[in-house]
Amino acid sequence: MKLYDAVVIGGGPAGMTAALYLLRAGVKTAMVEKLSPGGQVLMTSEIENYPGFPKGLQGWELADKFAAHLEEYPLERINDEVRAMEPNGDGHVLKVGEEDVKAKAVVLATGCRYRKLNVPGEDRLLGRGVSYCALCDGNFFRGRDVAVIGGGNSALEEALYLARICGKVHLIHRREAFRGQIIYQQKCFDHENIDIIRSTVVDEIVGETDVESLTLRNVASGESSSLKVDAAFIFVGFEPIIDFVPETVNRDRNGIVTDVEMRTNIPGLFAAGDIRSKLCRQVASAVGDGATAANSAFAYLEQLG
Ligand SMILES: Cc1cc2nc3c(=O)[nH]c(=O)nc-3n(C[C@H](O)[C@H](O)[C@H](O)COP(=O)(O)OP(=O)(O)OC[C@H]3O[C@@H](n4cnc5c(N)ncnc54)[C@H](O)[C@@H]3O)c2cc1C
Repeated sequence: MKLYDAVVIGGGPAGMTAALYLLRAGVKTAMVEKLSPGGQVLMTSEIENYPGFPKGLQGWELADKFAAHLEEYPLERINDEVRAMEPNGDGHVLKVGEEDVKAKAVVLATGCRYRKLNVPGEDRLLGRGVSYCALCDGNFFRGRDVAVIGGGNSALEEALYLARICGKVHLIHRREAFRGQIIYQQKCFDHENIDIIRSTVVDEIVGETDVESLTLRNVASGESSSLKVDAAFIFVGFEPIIDFVPETVNRDRNGIVTDVEMRTNIPGLFAAGDIRSKLCRQVASAVGDGATAANSAFAYLEQLG
């Protein structure tokens, strides 16, 4: 069994930053990534809000820069999937592919996945008007009409955010009643820029190269209609990727629970980035989490001696 001081699971912004900080502290570190390093950044066409790049840059360019930075250090890369993990003595054993890997400290950085509507046009127009992140993409639609799809807190909050920068925001919910907090509901209902469309589902996102309109269906009457918008922001939920994490690790419906130092309830186990229970899911916050988690993991290893 291979033994490391630290293993980082996930090679997105959080994982790569955690690995970088651990390596710079002289910790023998492996990073397990099942795909290419970069994480969700690789799905992002343009990133405009990561500090240091005033003109913005393509997602793959930022991922390449993170990966090139890591090349400067003796990182052990394991290109495989962690399928399970369990505590073992003063560390954790990870099932990586067919192999077992042991680490004294583990940083969980496997991110999250956004729930899809699963309608025609959604995948094809991702990054061309289809978005799961208002903070990331709202600015591209400044002054233009957009739709927000969903009825929970995220949908309401993102609608309010977009209403400040976009033209009309059509908030589309499949039920009559919204699920989000009453205070957010009221703010949306009262907002002059937000148009509420209830009991309605999206059957198709239409557009040749970019989003042009949505095909809507009223679930009560069955009547179809077309709504002209330049973007569809979909907030119908997300799942932190924690299938392999033991039940003993504290979590809530938003992800793994940590303290401000990225420590979980299990000694030697840390979490960083979108996998955590938190509100701001961005590259900048993932990078911050990664640095903090590495710092805590280093302190933990020092104390083990
Ligand atoms: C379309 C889109 C556009 C976005 N635009 C922006 C933007 O403009 N600005 C911004 O700041 N943020 C943006 N974001 C959000 C940002 O990309 C995420 O907040 C950030 O990537 C989170 O980093 P992370 O390292 O926590 O997770 P991720 O980036 O999700 O990385 C997790 C990594 O873990 C790997 N992994 C998962 N499970 C396993 C396993 N069991 N074993 C091994 N590896 C595993 C995955 O393959 C992945 O590479 C966008 C997101 C999307 C989807």
